[in-house]
Amino acid sequence: MNVLIVHAHNEPQSFSTALYQLAEETLRGQGHEVKTSDLYAMNWNPVASAADFGNRTNPDYLVYALEQREGAKAKTIAADIQGELDKLLWADLVIFNFPIYWFSAPAILKGWFDRVLVSGICYGGKRFYDQGGLAGKKALVTVTLGGRDHMFGEDAIHGPLEDMLRPILRGTLAYTGMSVLPPFVAWHVPYISTEARQDFLRQYQERLQRLEQDQPLEFVRLDQFDERLYPLPR
Ligand SMILES: Cc1cc2nc3c(=O)[nH]c(=O)nc-3n(C[C@H](O)[C@H](O)[C@H](O)COP(=O)(O)OP(=O)(O)OC[C@H]3O[C@@H](n4cnc5c(N)ncnc54)[C@H](O)[C@@H]3O)c2cc1C
Repeated sequence: MNVLIVHAHNEPQSFSTALYQLAEETLRGQGHEVKTSDLYAMNWNPVASAADFGNRTNPDYLVYALEQREGAKAKTIAADIQGELDKLLWADLVIFNFPIYWFSAPAILKGWFDRVLVSGICYGGKRFYDQGGLAGKKALVTVTLGGRDHMFGEDAIHGPLEDMLRPILRGTLAYTGMSVLPPFVAWHVPYISTEARQDFLRQYQERLQRLEQDQPLEFVRLDQFDERLYPLPR
């Protein structure tokens, strides 16, 4: 299997980085091909702007998704985007590894989604959810949190974890067609003992070793909706 790991932590000695390094080592050890994008180390530019396009279809008014479509077709999008897009299209499994910032991903990773998931290739027209351009690929989100596990759930103070991660799990990964595996979560990371953190590393390694048996989360399919995307009777 071809695996891309996209990592977003600003400290090379962080626990999140330990999870990233463990994934790379474990998956390589299992004989998988692994490529990585360590976004802070790459000094990744997260800002979607006019500078992303060499040759504009409309130089007078920027419609980012339109320029993505044309630029990706003509291969005139910025070299850093093209490099990441090539890795993404090569991968069978993409792991997104990051600490939770404000119920979401750090801005540097949000900017990877904005710039790399290009219209016309990853989604566009009626190519979304099960018909998305990245159908056939799996995605795993691996996160560290300050919060404790009892703070997440139906009646818990922060609500269900899947609700918190909805813009990523559903609005980004499932939307572009990827099969989204249940996230791996390390809770309360800065406040627990070294042993408890090492236990998370062990659990993660075991999870990675049996990843092919994981069942993806369920999302909608386009055949559940009519031409205008109203739901069909079930
Ligand atoms: C802007 C911002 C917004 C945030 N928003 C939220 C939020 O909405 N919800 C929430 O829950 N949290 C939030 N947090 C907290 C954040 O998610 C956690 O601090 C982070 O996930 C902890 O993971 P880390 O990798 O950064 O831990 P680190 O602080 O890097 O590491 C914790 C400890 O683990 C040690 N360690 C490193 N490697 C290993 C190893 N191999 N084995 C054992 N120990 C090791 C480190 O030395 C350190 O002592 C936010 C933080 C910021 C900065």
